[in-house]
Amino acid sequence: MDIDLVTIGTELLLGFTVDTNSAFMGQVLGEAGVRVARRTSVRDDPAEIRAAIREALARSRFVITTGGLGPTRDDMTKKVVAELFDAPLEFQAAIWDELVAKWARFGRKISESNRCQAEVPRGATVLANNRGTAPGLWLAGAPGEVVMLPGVPSEMKGLLREEVVPRLRTRASGVAISSRVLRTTGIPESTLAERLAEVEDGLAPLTLAYLPGIEGVDLRLTAWDMTSEQSGPLFDRAAAGIRAVTGDHCYGTGDDDLAAVLLERLRAAGLTLAVAESCTGGMIGERVTHVAGSSDVFLGGVIAYANELKTGLIGVNPETVAAHGSVSAAVVTEMVAGVALRTGADVAVAVTGVAGPGGGSDDKPIGTVWFGFSIRGAVDAIKVGFPGTRADIRGRASQFALHGLWRRASGV
Ligand code: AMP
Ligand code: MG
Repeated sequence: MDIDLVTIGTELLLGFTVDTNSAFMGQVLGEAGVRVARRTSVRDDPAEIRAAIREALARSRFVITTGGLGPTRDDMTKKVVAELFDAPLEFQAAIWDELVAKWARFGRKISESNRCQAEVPRGATVLANNRGTAPGLWLAGAPGEVVMLPGVPSEMKGLLREEVVPRLRTRASGVAISSRVLRTTGIPESTLAERLAEVEDGLAPLTLAYLPGIEGVDLRLTAWDMTSEQSGPLFDRAAAGIRAVTGDHCYGTGDDDLAAVLLERLRAAGLTLAVAESCTGGMIGERVTHVAGSSDVFLGGVIAYANELKTGLIGVNPETVAAHGSVSAAVVTEMVAGVALRTGADVAVAVTGVAGPGGGSDDKPIGTVWFGFSIRGAVDAIKVGFPGTRADIRGRASQFALHGLWRRASGV
C-alpha cells in the first residue's frame, strides 16, 4: 500500500522546526507494510494546503497530514480537508464535554477558543488523543482518504501507533518494509562499491543503500513487502556476502557503536586500555567513557597537547620532538609506548596530527595524522591523511583510532 505524507507548518519551511514527523512516520509505517511514496511540506496557507492534499490524493488516494489542527488562526487543516471532501464541520458536544472535563482534571477552565477542536467533518472517524487536545481525524470519501494528525510529535506518535497503524495493518496483510544495517569504517564509499560489485547483483530482491558519514559508511539492506519469515533468511545471506568482501572494515550492525564494540572485544580478552591524545583532545576517551561499564577496561590517559606535556607526562624524548616535529612516527611511537608504560595498560593508542585550519605545511598538510598502537608491548605507527574540516578530521581520527585498536585486538 502506497501513501502520501503532507506535513503542514510554516516553521517547517523556514527551517526552525525540523520535520521529524515525516521521518518517524516513514519508519513506523514501513514496519507496518505501508510505503510512503512521497512527502510534501507546506506553509500554513489554505490554498497551499488544499493544493498539496489534492495532489497527494490524486497520486496515492491515501494521505496522512500532520499539523494545523490546533485552536489558533494558523491551524486550518481541518477546514480545508472538510471543504475538499464536501463534508461540513459539525460541532460534537461529546468531544467538547470531554475537553472540558480533561481541563478540569488539571484544575483549569478551558477557553472558548478551543470549541473549534470539537468540530468534526461530517462522517469523519475521531481518533482519541490522550496526550493533547486536538483529536486526530480520519475522513474517507470520493477524493480518497485523509488522516489528519496533530503536529506536536508526541501526540502524532501516540495517535499513529495506537489509532492509525492498527487500522492500516488489517489492509497490509502481514507484509512489511524492514531493514538491516551493516556498519563499515576506514574504507571510502567508492572502494566499498567496487568491492561490493560482485555481491550486489545477488542481493535482489533486497535493495542496498550506501549511507556515508564521518564515522564511515553504513550499508542499509531493505526488504520490501515481505513477512519476517521471508526477509530473515535473505538478510542473513546478504549480510554474510557483504561481510565476506568488507572483512574487518565491517565492525557491527544496526546502531552498534565502535567504542562499545571495541570495549567488548577488549573485555573478552581481559585487556585494559589507555590513550594519549593530542589533536583529538580527549575525543577518544570521551567515546570510550560514553559507554556504560567502560571502567573495567578503560584506565584513562592524557591529553598531551603541548609538547611539554608529551615530554613531561608520558616521557617523549625532547630530542625526538626537536628532530622530527610533534606530528611524526617517532613522536607518536614514544607517546603510545610512554602511556602504556605509565598506566600499565595492555593496549594503548596515541594520536598526533594537524587538524587545521592553520598549521599545515608541504610535508605535513592539514589532515595529516599519526597513530601509534601498542598491543601488549608490540608497537606500530601509521600515518593517514583525512579530508574535511577541523571537526571532520578530529572525528575521523577518533574513529580510525578505535577501529585500529579493534582490529589489532582481534585474536590477541
Ligand atoms: P500544530 O499542530 O501545527 O499546531 O503544531 C504544533 C507544534 O508541533 C509546532 O509548534 C511544532 O513544534 C511541532 N511540529 C509541527 N509539525 C511538525 C513536524 N512535521 N515535525 C516536527 N515537529 C512538528
Ligand atoms: Mg502549526
